[in-house]
Amino acid sequence: MSKNTVAKAAQEPATVLVTGATSGIGKAIALGFAKNHLAIAINGFGKDDEIAAVLNELKEAGAKEAIHVPSDMSLAGDIDRLINTTQEKLGSLDVLVNNAGIQYTANIEDFPAEKWDQIIAINLSSAFHTTRLALPMMKERNFGRIINIASVHGLVASVQKAAYVAAKHGIIGLTKVVALECAQQNITANSICPGWVLTPLVEAQVSAIATKDGISRDQAVEKLLSEKQPSLRFVALEELAALCLFLSSSSAASITGASMPIDGGWTAR
Ligand code: NAD
Repeated sequence: MSKNTVAKAAQEPATVLVTGATSGIGKAIALGFAKNHLAIAINGFGKDDEIAAVLNELKEAGAKEAIHVPSDMSLAGDIDRLINTTQEKLGSLDVLVNNAGIQYTANIEDFPAEKWDQIIAINLSSAFHTTRLALPMMKERNFGRIINIASVHGLVASVQKAAYVAAKHGIIGLTKVVALECAQQNITANSICPGWVLTPLVEAQVSAIATKDGISRDQAVEKLLSEKQPSLRFVALEELAALCLFLSSSSAASITGASMPIDGGWTAR
Protein backbone atom coordinates (compact mmCIF):
# COMPACT_ATOMS: atom_id res chain seq x y z
CA MET A 1 0.00 0.00 0.00
CA SER A 2 1.48 3.39 -0.91
CA LYS A 3 1.93 5.94 1.86
CA ASN A 4 -0.87 8.04 0.38
CA THR A 5 -3.46 5.31 0.84
CA VAL A 6 -2.70 4.86 4.55
CA ALA A 7 -4.90 6.98 6.82
CA LYS A 8 -2.88 9.68 8.58
CA ALA A 9 -2.83 9.72 12.39
CA ALA A 10 -5.59 12.03 13.66
CA GLN A 11 -4.24 15.49 14.36
CA GLU A 12 -6.23 18.30 15.93
CA PRO A 13 -5.38 22.00 15.56
CA ALA A 14 -3.94 24.06 18.42
CA THR A 15 -3.61 27.51 16.85
CA VAL A 16 -5.82 29.66 14.65
CA LEU A 17 -5.82 33.06 12.96
CA VAL A 18 -9.20 34.61 12.18
CA THR A 19 -9.02 37.78 10.11
CA GLY A 20 -11.61 40.50 10.64
CA ALA A 21 -12.59 39.11 14.04
CA THR A 22 -13.37 42.32 15.90
CA SER A 23 -16.98 42.07 14.71
CA GLY A 24 -19.70 39.87 13.25
CA ILE A 25 -18.91 36.48 11.74
CA GLY A 26 -15.17 36.58 12.45
CA LYS A 27 -15.71 37.27 16.12
CA ALA A 28 -18.24 34.41 16.39
CA ILE A 29 -15.82 32.01 14.67
CA ALA A 30 -13.00 33.07 17.01
CA LEU A 31 -15.32 32.46 19.99
CA GLY A 32 -16.06 28.97 18.68
CA PHE A 33 -12.34 28.18 18.61
CA ALA A 34 -11.93 29.76 22.07
CA LYS A 35 -14.49 27.31 23.49
CA ASN A 36 -12.27 24.53 22.10
CA HIS A 37 -9.24 26.03 23.90
CA LEU A 38 -7.14 26.95 20.89
CA ALA A 39 -4.58 29.77 20.97
CA ILE A 40 -6.08 32.52 18.83
CA ALA A 41 -4.79 35.47 16.82
CA ILE A 42 -7.20 38.00 15.39
CA ASN A 43 -7.02 41.22 13.48
CA GLY A 44 -9.64 43.77 12.50
CA PHE A 45 -10.43 47.41 13.15
CA GLY A 46 -11.85 48.90 16.33
CA LYS A 47 -11.06 51.23 19.21
CA ASP A 48 -8.47 49.97 21.70
CA ASP A 49 -11.08 49.29 24.41
CA GLU A 50 -13.33 47.42 21.94
CA ILE A 51 -10.44 45.20 20.82
CA ALA A 52 -9.44 44.60 24.46
CA ALA A 53 -13.05 43.57 25.20
CA VAL A 54 -13.02 41.02 22.34
CA LEU A 55 -9.71 39.53 23.54
CA ASN A 56 -11.16 39.34 27.06
CA GLU A 57 -14.26 37.57 25.77
CA LEU A 58 -12.08 35.03 23.92
CA LYS A 59 -10.02 34.34 27.04
CA GLU A 60 -13.11 34.02 29.21
CA ALA A 61 -14.61 31.59 26.67
CA GLY A 62 -11.52 29.37 27.11
CA ALA A 63 -8.89 30.51 24.59
CA LYS A 64 -5.44 29.26 25.55
CA GLU A 65 -4.14 32.62 24.38
CA ALA A 66 -5.72 35.55 22.51
CA ILE A 67 -3.77 38.21 20.67
CA HIS A 68 -4.70 41.03 18.29
CA VAL A 69 -2.26 41.89 15.51
CA PRO A 70 -3.02 45.33 14.05
CA SER A 71 -3.02 44.99 10.25
CA ASP A 72 -4.92 46.35 7.29
CA MET A 73 -5.86 43.53 4.93
CA SER A 74 -5.58 45.84 1.93
CA LEU A 75 -1.82 46.18 2.52
CA ALA A 76 0.45 43.26 1.58
CA GLY A 77 3.17 44.48 4.00
CA ASP A 78 0.72 44.42 6.93
CA ILE A 79 -0.36 40.89 5.98
CA ASP A 80 3.25 39.77 6.00
CA ARG A 81 3.60 41.09 9.55
CA LEU A 82 0.26 39.52 10.56
CA ILE A 83 1.31 36.01 9.53
CA ASN A 84 4.87 36.31 10.90
CA THR A 85 3.69 37.69 14.25
CA THR A 86 1.00 35.02 14.57
CA GLN A 87 3.47 32.21 13.89
CA GLU A 88 6.05 33.71 16.25
CA LYS A 89 3.67 34.40 19.14
CA LEU A 90 1.48 31.27 18.87
CA GLY A 91 4.30 28.94 17.77
CA SER A 92 2.40 27.74 14.69
CA LEU A 93 -0.58 28.54 12.48
CA ASP A 94 -2.72 25.42 12.14
CA VAL A 95 -5.98 27.02 11.00
CA LEU A 96 -6.26 30.10 8.82
CA VAL A 97 -9.72 31.64 8.54
CA ASN A 98 -9.84 34.31 5.85
CA ASN A 99 -12.91 36.24 6.93
CA ALA A 100 -12.23 40.00 6.71
CA GLY A 101 -14.45 41.58 4.11
CA ILE A 102 -16.34 44.71 3.13
CA GLN A 103 -19.33 45.49 0.93
CA TYR A 104 -20.32 48.35 -1.37
CA THR A 105 -23.41 48.48 -3.55
CA ALA A 106 -23.98 50.44 -6.78
CA ASN A 107 -24.79 49.75 -10.41
CA ILE A 108 -21.67 49.00 -12.42
CA GLU A 109 -21.66 52.30 -14.29
CA ASP A 110 -21.79 54.15 -10.94
CA PHE A 111 -19.36 51.83 -9.11
CA PRO A 112 -16.36 53.91 -7.96
CA ALA A 113 -13.13 52.38 -9.32
CA GLU A 114 -11.40 52.84 -5.96
CA LYS A 115 -14.19 50.83 -4.24
CA TRP A 116 -13.66 48.03 -6.78
CA ASP A 117 -9.90 48.00 -6.01
CA GLN A 118 -10.52 48.07 -2.25
CA ILE A 119 -13.02 45.18 -2.31
CA ILE A 120 -10.81 43.03 -4.54
CA ALA A 121 -7.84 43.76 -2.23
CA ILE A 122 -9.62 43.04 1.07
CA ASN A 123 -12.08 40.30 0.04
CA LEU A 124 -9.82 38.41 -2.41
CA SER A 125 -6.13 39.37 -2.66
CA SER A 126 -5.68 39.32 1.14
CA ALA A 127 -6.55 35.59 1.15
CA PHE A 128 -3.93 34.95 -1.54
CA HIS A 129 -1.32 36.72 0.60
CA THR A 130 -2.23 35.04 3.91
CA THR A 131 -2.34 31.64 2.21
CA ARG A 132 0.99 31.97 0.38
CA LEU A 133 2.64 33.12 3.62
CA ALA A 134 1.03 30.49 5.89
CA LEU A 135 1.58 27.45 3.66
CA PRO A 136 5.34 26.93 4.15
CA MET A 137 4.93 26.31 7.90
CA MET A 138 1.78 24.21 7.36
CA LYS A 139 3.70 22.06 4.86
CA GLU A 140 6.63 21.72 7.26
CA ARG A 141 4.22 20.52 9.98
CA ASN A 142 2.19 18.39 7.55
CA PHE A 143 -1.04 19.89 8.86
CA GLY A 144 -3.18 22.84 7.93
CA ARG A 145 -6.76 23.99 7.54
CA ILE A 146 -7.61 26.98 5.38
CA ILE A 147 -11.19 28.22 5.58
CA ASN A 148 -12.28 31.02 3.31
CA ILE A 149 -15.45 32.85 4.26
CA ALA A 150 -16.85 33.39 0.79
CA SER A 151 -20.60 33.95 0.40
CA VAL A 152 -23.60 32.78 -1.56
CA HIS A 153 -22.29 35.56 -3.80
CA GLY A 154 -19.38 33.26 -4.63
CA LEU A 155 -21.94 30.94 -6.26
CA VAL A 156 -24.63 33.26 -7.62
CA ALA A 157 -24.93 36.97 -8.32
CA SER A 158 -27.12 39.87 -7.16
CA VAL A 159 -27.47 43.28 -8.72
CA GLN A 160 -25.28 46.17 -7.55
CA LYS A 161 -22.57 43.95 -6.08
CA ALA A 162 -20.10 43.70 -8.97
CA ALA A 163 -16.90 43.86 -6.93
CA TYR A 164 -18.21 41.69 -4.07
CA VAL A 165 -19.55 38.99 -6.40
CA ALA A 166 -16.34 39.00 -8.45
CA ALA A 167 -14.18 38.76 -5.31
CA LYS A 168 -16.29 35.97 -3.78
CA HIS A 169 -16.33 33.94 -7.02
CA GLY A 170 -12.57 34.51 -7.13
CA ILE A 171 -11.94 33.25 -3.61
CA ILE A 172 -13.80 30.02 -4.42
CA GLY A 173 -11.45 29.52 -7.37
CA LEU A 174 -8.41 30.28 -5.22
CA THR A 175 -9.63 27.75 -2.63
CA LYS A 176 -9.81 24.99 -5.24
CA VAL A 177 -6.25 25.63 -6.43
CA VAL A 178 -4.93 25.54 -2.84
CA ALA A 179 -6.84 22.30 -2.24
CA LEU A 180 -5.27 20.67 -5.30
CA GLU A 181 -1.74 21.88 -4.57
CA CYS A 182 -1.90 20.64 -0.96
CA ALA A 183 -4.00 17.50 -1.45
CA GLN A 184 -1.29 15.10 -0.23
CA GLN A 185 0.00 17.18 2.68
CA ASN A 186 -2.86 16.97 5.16
CA ILE A 187 -3.72 20.59 4.37
CA THR A 188 -7.29 21.29 3.33
CA ALA A 189 -8.83 24.43 1.85
CA ASN A 190 -12.57 25.03 1.76
CA SER A 191 -14.97 27.90 1.18
CA ILE A 192 -18.01 28.59 3.34
CA CYS A 193 -20.83 30.39 1.54
CA PRO A 194 -23.22 32.04 4.01
CA GLY A 195 -26.52 33.61 3.05
CA TRP A 196 -27.78 36.55 5.11
CA VAL A 197 -26.23 36.73 8.59
CA LEU A 198 -27.21 39.63 10.85
CA THR A 199 -23.96 41.56 11.32
CA PRO A 200 -23.01 45.26 10.96
CA LEU A 201 -22.27 44.55 7.26
CA VAL A 202 -25.89 43.46 6.68
CA GLU A 203 -27.40 45.94 9.15
CA ALA A 204 -26.14 48.68 6.79
CA GLN A 205 -28.05 47.04 3.91
CA VAL A 206 -31.20 46.76 6.06
CA SER A 207 -30.97 50.49 6.88
CA ALA A 208 -30.50 51.32 3.18
CA ILE A 209 -33.71 49.43 2.27
CA ALA A 210 -35.66 51.08 5.12
CA THR A 211 -34.53 54.55 3.99
CA LYS A 212 -35.03 53.93 0.26
CA ASP A 213 -38.51 52.39 0.64
CA GLY A 214 -39.65 54.51 3.61
CA ILE A 215 -40.40 51.41 5.72
CA SER A 216 -39.54 50.31 9.27
CA ARG A 217 -36.42 48.29 10.13
CA ASP A 218 -38.54 45.16 10.74
CA GLN A 219 -40.26 45.55 7.36
CA ALA A 220 -36.85 46.02 5.73
CA VAL A 221 -35.57 42.80 7.37
CA GLU A 222 -38.64 40.93 6.10
CA LYS A 223 -38.09 42.28 2.59
CA LEU A 224 -34.37 41.41 2.60
CA LEU A 225 -35.00 37.83 3.74
CA SER A 226 -38.05 37.11 1.61
CA GLU A 227 -36.28 38.16 -1.59
CA LYS A 228 -33.47 35.61 -1.25
CA GLN A 229 -33.51 33.34 1.82
CA PRO A 230 -36.34 30.72 1.81
CA SER A 231 -35.82 29.91 5.53
CA LEU A 232 -36.92 33.53 6.23
CA ARG A 233 -34.44 33.70 9.09
CA PHE A 234 -30.86 34.87 9.36
CA VAL A 235 -28.11 32.24 9.48
CA ALA A 236 -27.00 32.09 13.13
CA LEU A 237 -23.43 33.06 13.95
CA GLU A 238 -23.05 29.88 16.00
CA GLU A 239 -23.90 27.75 12.95
CA LEU A 240 -20.97 29.28 11.08
CA ALA A 241 -18.62 28.79 14.03
CA ALA A 242 -19.65 25.13 14.31
CA LEU A 243 -18.95 24.50 10.62
CA CYS A 244 -15.49 26.08 10.95
CA LEU A 245 -14.73 23.87 13.95
CA PHE A 246 -15.77 20.76 12.04
CA LEU A 247 -13.73 21.69 8.95
CA SER A 248 -10.69 22.19 11.22
CA SER A 249 -11.00 18.79 12.84
CA SER A 250 -9.31 15.54 11.83
CA SER A 251 -12.77 14.21 10.87
CA ALA A 252 -12.82 16.65 7.95
CA ALA A 253 -9.41 15.62 6.56
CA SER A 254 -10.92 14.49 3.24
CA ILE A 255 -13.12 17.54 2.72
CA THR A 256 -11.09 19.86 0.52
CA GLY A 257 -11.77 22.19 -2.39
CA ALA A 258 -15.44 22.34 -1.40
CA SER A 259 -17.75 25.37 -1.44
CA MET A 260 -20.40 24.94 1.24
CA PRO A 261 -23.60 26.97 1.17
CA ILE A 262 -25.06 27.67 4.62
CA ASP A 263 -27.84 29.84 3.34
CA GLY A 264 -31.34 28.69 4.38
CA GLY A 265 -31.95 27.49 0.82
CA TRP A 266 -30.88 30.66 -1.05
CA THR A 267 -28.86 28.77 -3.71
CA ALA A 268 -31.28 25.83 -3.95
CA ARG A 269 -33.74 27.69 -6.14
P1 NAD B 1 -18.50 42.89 9.71
O1 NAD B 1 -18.52 44.22 9.03
O2 NAD B 1 -19.32 42.67 10.93
O3 NAD B 1 -17.00 42.48 10.06
C1 NAD B 1 -15.94 42.67 9.17
C2 NAD B 1 -14.63 42.52 9.90
O4 NAD B 1 -13.57 42.74 8.96
C3 NAD B 1 -14.43 43.55 11.02
O5 NAD B 1 -13.70 42.95 12.07
C4 NAD B 1 -13.58 44.62 10.34
O6 NAD B 1 -12.80 45.39 11.24
C5 NAD B 1 -12.71 43.75 9.46
N1 NAD B 1 -12.11 44.49 8.35
C6 NAD B 1 -12.75 45.19 7.39
N2 NAD B 1 -11.85 45.74 6.55
C7 NAD B 1 -10.63 45.37 7.02
C8 NAD B 1 -9.30 45.63 6.62
N3 NAD B 1 -9.02 46.40 5.55
N4 NAD B 1 -8.28 45.11 7.34
C9 NAD B 1 -8.54 44.36 8.43
N5 NAD B 1 -9.77 44.07 8.86
C10 NAD B 1 -10.80 44.58 8.16
O7 NAD B 1 -18.88 41.87 8.53
P2 NAD B 1 -19.43 40.35 8.56
O8 NAD B 1 -20.82 40.37 8.08
O9 NAD B 1 -19.08 39.68 9.84
O10 NAD B 1 -18.56 39.75 7.37
C11 NAD B 1 -17.45 38.88 7.57
C12 NAD B 1 -17.21 38.10 6.30
O11 NAD B 1 -18.37 37.29 6.01
C13 NAD B 1 -16.99 38.97 5.07
O12 NAD B 1 -15.98 38.38 4.25
C14 NAD B 1 -18.32 38.93 4.36
O13 NAD B 1 -18.21 39.13 2.97
C15 NAD B 1 -18.77 37.51 4.67
N6 NAD B 1 -20.20 37.29 4.54
C16 NAD B 1 -21.09 37.97 5.31
C17 NAD B 1 -22.45 37.72 5.17
C18 NAD B 1 -23.49 38.41 6.03
O14 NAD B 1 -24.68 38.23 5.72
N7 NAD B 1 -23.13 39.15 7.02
C19 NAD B 1 -22.89 36.79 4.24
C20 NAD B 1 -21.96 36.12 3.46
C21 NAD B 1 -20.61 36.38 3.63
